[in-house]
Amino acid sequence: MTSSELMNRRRALALLGGSATALGIAPISMAQTSARVVIVGGGFGGASAAMTLKTLLPNLSVTLVEPNPIFTACPFSNLVIAGLRDLSEQQFTYDGLKSAGIEIAQTTAETVDPYKKTVTLSSGSILSYDRLILSPGIDFRWGALEGYTEDTPAMLPHAWKAGDQTLLLRDQLQAMPENGLVVMTVPAAPFRCPPGPYERASLIANFLKTYKPQAKLLVLDSNERFSKMPLFQEAWAAEYPDHLEWRAASNDGRVSRVDASRKTVFTDFEDIQADVINVIPPQKAGKIADAAGVSDATGWCPINALAFESSLVSGIHVIGDATIATPMPKSAFSANLQAKICAIGIAQILSDRAPSTTTLANTCYSFIDDDHAISVVGVYTNLDGKLASVEGAGGISPMSADTDIRAQEAEQARSWFTTITREAFG
Ligand code: FAD
Repeated sequence: MTSSELMNRRRALALLGGSATALGIAPISMAQTSARVVIVGGGFGGASAAMTLKTLLPNLSVTLVEPNPIFTACPFSNLVIAGLRDLSEQQFTYDGLKSAGIEIAQTTAETVDPYKKTVTLSSGSILSYDRLILSPGIDFRWGALEGYTEDTPAMLPHAWKAGDQTLLLRDQLQAMPENGLVVMTVPAAPFRCPPGPYERASLIANFLKTYKPQAKLLVLDSNERFSKMPLFQEAWAAEYPDHLEWRAASNDGRVSRVDASRKTVFTDFEDIQADVINVIPPQKAGKIADAAGVSDATGWCPINALAFESSLVSGIHVIGDATIATPMPKSAFSANLQAKICAIGIAQILSDRAPSTTTLANTCYSFIDDDHAISVVGVYTNLDGKLASVEGAGGISPMSADTDIRAQEAEQARSWFTTITREAFG
């Protein structure tokens, strides 16, 4: 693929994911309403949904429930771990949302009553809604990996929710011996950000190669295959042959137990002691999904993708990582686009119109070192609420491309981050 083809592909996708108008919905055609929408979770999904709803229906009462005064973004946090970016560049306040007229309830949502249409907050106060959007992201299945409980991340960081955990993993890498061993464990899919572990592996290997050339990273994976696998493996063979080893599940990569006090992981055939252990734990939808009754036995939330309304409880919409939206991956790009589609669908429902069918897309960029990135693009139909990949659309970065192409993709990744965080947080 030439660089101009790459640019065209990006422009087309920017249009697809860009705005409600680009999706064929004219904001002024929406009936104004004084209805009340409550949104739980002020991350990529929730904040984007709040902003889109306020743009579409300025008179709508929108309350965003989020306990943290500052949101810390996961995309690009692997660069922070590798010492290539400051955590402050990942952080966003809710001032932009407040200026847009969105009410922020800085607290946690504890329970939902779908019959009374109310949300109870940890403060004890109760919010009533006409429509509720849940975008709580992920929670961890504590104990699903033996030995990994709520206390373990203080010693063996996951860094799969950005913030203090990101800094802890960075600091452990900086403090480890010159010839030390780092182990990363990857759970069986599905999990937040399918290419995320492999971007992290690339950037940790880059850190070791630069600052601790005798050290090594071992990735123990519960999967056989992963997102952008040929591209990552090509980059690893070229850049990190002495610093990164990846083991598939069938090659004794599945970790069944960890022991934090002995800094040891256990596979079927080996006990491996390491200086730094990054455990990416098994995951599920954020726990408010269970309280609201919108998660199923998988731990994730089935939805009708026309307006991302729960298939289990009417009046509640679920977006972002918490959903079962396969084949769309659990990404910030997906959460942001799902938020727009959900907001448009709610505006249509509140205007007594049926939610319309749309086309969706996702792009995931991954850095392979500080200045070079690769990407994968998916395009999805949304017919009768069921998502399916559009055959022949989307694509993946070319193999064996010049470094210029990889550098352009890194630049596009940076622009994407600026755009998506501006859309969500103003
Ligand atoms: P989040 O953004 O996590 O937001 C959830 C919010 O809900 C949080 O602020 C939380 O505090 C709040 N919340 C939870 N429960 C409650 C409650 N009961 N009451 C009130 N608030 C609550 N995606 C990309 O597209 N590109 C990337 O390059 C990329 N890189 C990544 C790298 C890493 C290392 C990781 C871990 C992820 C990456 N992702 C990337 C994935 C991306 O971060 C997630 O897909 C995205 O954040 C999902 O958005 P969300 O709204 O579902 O959840």
